[in-house]
Amino acid sequence: MDQTNIPLVSVRNCRQAYHKEASADLVVLDNVDLTLHEGEIVALLGRSGSGKSTLLRIVAGLLKPTSGEVNWRGKPLTGPAPGVAMVFQSFALFPWLTVQENVELGLEALRVKKDDREERSEEAIDLIGLGGYDGAYPKELSGGMRQRVGLARALVVHPDLLLMDEPFSALDVLTAETLRTDLIDLWMDGKLPVKSILIVTHNIEEAVLMADRILVFSSNPGRVAHELKVPFAHPRNRFDPAFREMVDDIYGIMTRRKAPEVHTATAAAPNPFAHVLHPVGTNLIAGLLETLKSEPYNGRADLPALAAALQFEVDELLPLGETLSMLGFAELEEGDIIITETGRRFADAETEDRKEIFAEALRTHVPLIGAIRGVIDQRSNHRAAAVRFRDQLEDHMSPEYAEETLRTVISWGRYAEIFEYDEEAQQFGLEEEDEEETED
Ligand code: ADP
Ligand code: MG
Repeated sequence: MDQTNIPLVSVRNCRQAYHKEASADLVVLDNVDLTLHEGEIVALLGRSGSGKSTLLRIVAGLLKPTSGEVNWRGKPLTGPAPGVAMVFQSFALFPWLTVQENVELGLEALRVKKDDREERSEEAIDLIGLGGYDGAYPKELSGGMRQRVGLARALVVHPDLLLMDEPFSALDVLTAETLRTDLIDLWMDGKLPVKSILIVTHNIEEAVLMADRILVFSSNPGRVAHELKVPFAHPRNRFDPAFREMVDDIYGIMTRRKAPEVHTATAAAPNPFAHVLHPVGTNLIAGLLETLKSEPYNGRADLPALAAALQFEVDELLPLGETLSMLGFAELEEGDIIITETGRRFADAETEDRKEIFAEALRTHVPLIGAIRGVIDQRSNHRAAAVRFRDQLEDHMSPEYAEETLRTVISWGRYAEIFEYDEEAQQFGLEEEDEEETED
């Protein structure tokens, strides 16, 4: 522990806004405070789009916040922080470099001599369990091994702070779990050449499994809404009732604070292009509603219990639950999900009726659907290019979320037969019969 008690990092009253030409600035972070001390693992837990990656870049000194203070060991940060290394979800390896060369890259910026570079990268590669793969290329490795390379590249610089941005979310469940426990084992044995770890995740169980402290991040704009200490010793057991209770509590916190936002959003005639839609397929929606209305749930289920029964990761169920609630098919209440009358009607209906109920829900709750259909209807050829809607979405969200939202609205609109979409031409249009009626 640092004897002087000066935190490794402290972020005070931080705000990040992105300028938008066509509309009001997008405030991503507001009033964010965060302190990291040596010797701790801290998890930053929040849903997609809440600003976690943005905050991570600010902590690393890669992005200067619109306002607020970032201090490293008590001194203001003015550029990329020394002594920080990052691990990304996407691994970010160079395909044309071997494992060893990818790992050594971490050292080049530090001007370490060739011999030392080799020795240190070998050390990092062995530590992380990749001994013998020094000469392999990324494409020859499994996803789990690639992420081990990403870890070795971060560790080889012996950073004070290891920043991890959803490092396990691109891996399958078992591989992710092995990596988590390997990392915690190394940390507990004092073998990791780092002083502190900040891990960003949207996975509640991952946070409870790994962290000493969890910062629950709220969205719109992002801020640290809750802080929880995790009192369990390592190795932790997911099935321990106290562990389960903590996961449940956090679940409650994360669903509780969402509810009022949804209501205010619908009340205030929302901008159709300002809301991220989660990529939740209609099959999944139907499956969940059917399960929920039947035995043993009979319309009401504890979300973590339902996740376990359906073999979902708990965090996969959160966007699904939110989507159902947004569409008016279910309500979320303190970690429970309760089917609504409309949800029940949908679950009981046959395919054609389901499409109609879904179309009605979309028209009522997803203004984007109406906006797209409106443009198609106005055009004499009944076609509208996707790019125009993508641009409008990008006024309010990053290109990735805009794409995700567009893909989701396409699949929902097709299912509900509100419009057609031509993949090749990237155009919205109407179903053939509709079109013939109105053409010529
Ligand atoms: P998270 O990592 O929690 O998913 P991000 O930090 O990636 O969230 O993004 C937070 C919000 O900021 C999102 O709404 C995203 O669309 C927006 N955003 C991120 N980067 C940019 C950017 N360079 N320009 C405009 N908006 C951005
Ligand atoms: Mg992110």
